Amino acid sequence: MSRIAYVNGTYRPHGEASVHIEDRGFQFADGVYEVWGVFDGRLADFDGHMTRLERSLTELAMALPMSRAALTLVLKETVRRNKVRDGLVYIQVTRGTARRDHVFPAPGTPPSVVVTARSVDRRAQLARAQKGVAVITRPDIRWGRCDIKTVGLLPNVLAKQAAREAGAAEAWLVDSDGLVTEGGSTNAWIVDEHGVLRTRDTGANILRGITRAAVMALAPEHQIRIEERAFSVDEARRAREAFFTAASAFVTPVISIDGQRVGDGKPGPVTRALAEAYLANASASAI
Ligand code: PLP
Repeated sequence: MSRIAYVNGTYRPHGEASVHIEDRGFQFADGVYEVWGVFDGRLADFDGHMTRLERSLTELAMALPMSRAALTLVLKETVRRNKVRDGLVYIQVTRGTARRDHVFPAPGTPPSVVVTARSVDRRAQLARAQKGVAVITRPDIRWGRCDIKTVGLLPNVLAKQAAREAGAAEAWLVDSDGLVTEGGSTNAWIVDEHGVLRTRDTGANILRGITRAAVMALAPEHQIRIEERAFSVDEARRAREAFFTAASAFVTPVISIDGQRVGDGKPGPVTRALAEAYLANASASAI
């Protein structure tokens, strides 16, 4: 089926959709993006992702490129035109096109807006998640504002490629204190040796994951004790369970870290309960 992309006001065949060579996203990674999971044609965790998009833009002194209502329509229309039932919808917003110069272009320069949607084989994805996946660890060499979801993802790209080459699904990034920050495109979690569910606090240099927030909200309903507290690679290796979260990965069990088995090498009960609860909740509340 032919894919359709929204670019600066028009829907175009994917292969013909383009932005200018002097787009600031291409020249400087001067832009942000956002991603929603799509369940049965509807967008999951809608408000959380939209609010984070607004925040990312504000932090870079950019405005939402159109009203929230208009943007919602564009996102849904892109999903509809691509006939996506289960999948993902992406938006990239950059500071627009201007003659190359580091400083911001003249006020009034229109931003570039790209929206794309793609289907995911949900059954294959869930089957993979049921078995659990491997992660490796890599040094976190990113900039100091990882709370902003910018298109500047080179360290993440390199870490994810290293994971791929090691036969792993994700790279967990480790700061100079030996503590895990997050994954290349996911938030990192463990159930520690005392049974406490732990993930890095948002005061650290991490993305405030929308799936992370949803899972945190679900934990008390399942009588799971949760702490936003950093963990070391060593603690992760000794953990009872581990997993990662993202709009593109839901709750994915981690069964090995740097080749060393986590727990009994199978997805654990806390992970499975949260994965099930997250999926039920996300699909029920999608709009
Ligand atoms: N951390 C990073 C670096 C990410 O890129 C992402 C998602 O793209 C996440 C965490 C997970 O965030 P969310 O749950 O909002 O998808």
